[in-house]
Amino acid sequence: MERSIETQVSQAVDAWLRWLPRWEPATHRGRVAPCRRCIGSPVLSAAGLGADVPHGVQHGLSTRVKTIVDHAVAEYTARNLPLLQTELDQQAARNRARSYRPTEGLEPEFDGLPMDPDPVPGAPFLFTIGGLAEEVDAAIPALPPLSDEAKAALRQEIGLADDYANMIGREVCAVLLHHRLRIQAAVAQYVEPQIAAMLEELTRSLDAPFDPNPDPGPGLTEP
Ligand SMILES: [Zn+2]
Repeated sequence: MERSIETQVSQAVDAWLRWLPRWEPATHRGRVAPCRRCIGSPVLSAAGLGADVPHGVQHGLSTRVKTIVDHAVAEYTARNLPLLQTELDQQAARNRARSYRPTEGLEPEFDGLPMDPDPVPGAPFLFTIGGLAEEVDAAIPALPPLSDEAKAALRQEIGLADDYANMIGREVCAVLLHHRLRIQAAVAQYVEPQIAAMLEELTRSLDAPFDPNPDPGPGLTEP
């Protein structure tokens, strides 16, 4: 039997809580572009993970929850929307024909993130992961075009799938409200101390920029 949405959300929060102690602030230059999955996400506001929480922490949860919604919509489509299902099957077959699929099988913390770092002006990359994937895509034949009637019918089914996704999304958010306290407790335990330590370190290095005998302290010896 299919697990209820309530159970699935609870298990997704459990998995995120197991991962959170391993979270560390990013040491590399952050992305400039905001993440489309996390910015303004109703899932994250239901979970109480606001914009003051680092993106990596948000992304691990929003992706796990998105998987639940995607799965529910896939089941609904398979049962009720034959045209959309056929279209998805054809696209899936086309995907399987690709020899290089860098966006598949990633951990939730990395899924949906840009594959390549922001380019640095004047220093082009020799190659990018996105570029390699595009080259592979170009070698695969496109799907046959649809008639106007088929397109209209397909659009209608896509609308129904969207409505269903919104309904499941609202259900997921309602369930997440019940998990806010343990989510916030975990952020207070594992995330906030690391951010406070980073800010303190920054303040200290700004206070004494020309100290002739600096005390490197933990974590300051890295270049
Ligand atoms: Zn994100």
